[in-house]
Amino acid sequence: MCILKLRYKGITINSDQINKLHLYFGTMSSQSPIPWYDDFEGVAYRYYDLRMNVAPLITDRKQADSLWHDSIHWWVDPSIKIRFVEMENDYWFIMGADSQKPDTNLAFFKILPKSENYERFKAGHGGEAYLRLGVYTAISLDDAKKNAVCNCGHEAQDHDEGDDDVCLFNDCSCKKFSSYDMNFRKRKKTITDIKFLEEKDVKNDPLAWNCFTVNKYSKPE
Ligand SMILES: [Zn+2]
Ligand SMILES: [Zn+2]
Repeated sequence: MCILKLRYKGITINSDQINKLHLYFGTMSSQSPIPWYDDFEGVAYRYYDLRMNVAPLITDRKQADSLWHDSIHWWVDPSIKIRFVEMENDYWFIMGADSQKPDTNLAFFKILPKSENYERFKAGHGGEAYLRLGVYTAISLDDAKKNAVCNCGHEAQDHDEGDDDVCLFNDCSCKKFSSYDMNFRKRKKTITDIKFLEEKDVKNDPLAWNCFTVNKYSKPE
């Protein structure tokens, strides 16, 4: 915790309160709503350090670093919220926070298929997680090492280089080799406000409600 204290006209406030004042005036002066950002590939859930990590996956390292530098860096940790709204097979990933720099603030959302890693996170996060960004690089068959594993579970050398990269295993339906490299950026923030919701609960949660209003209810199906 920062121990900075400010004395002004006999009032002593700590840095937390300064942030709150700043946010208050920031909100008052900026009329535009926080933009919703969905230009990322997905979200990785991994154990790394002591806690589960939630890592939105960005395909370009520079983009990941400027996203962090311009927006996430300014997030006030205790205000970071993640909401998971569960639909039948998919879920909405929704993340937002109060920023010390409201002009460059963003909120994240993405509709993603439920996965094993997602279920593991849901069961194991224990109310806290680290937020990091992940850089996701697709690897083509040409660049893959022979024993690199495809998303179908079979190695690169089991895919036909001549014929559209199809997997050579008879019982495999994979038509194209696809694999990726993932690298977590070091910088992190701590998230302590994590909720799993159903769509009927969305109206009671300001962040999820804002997201659904802008990205679902106001759009034609
Ligand atoms: Zn494959
Ligand atoms: Zn295969």
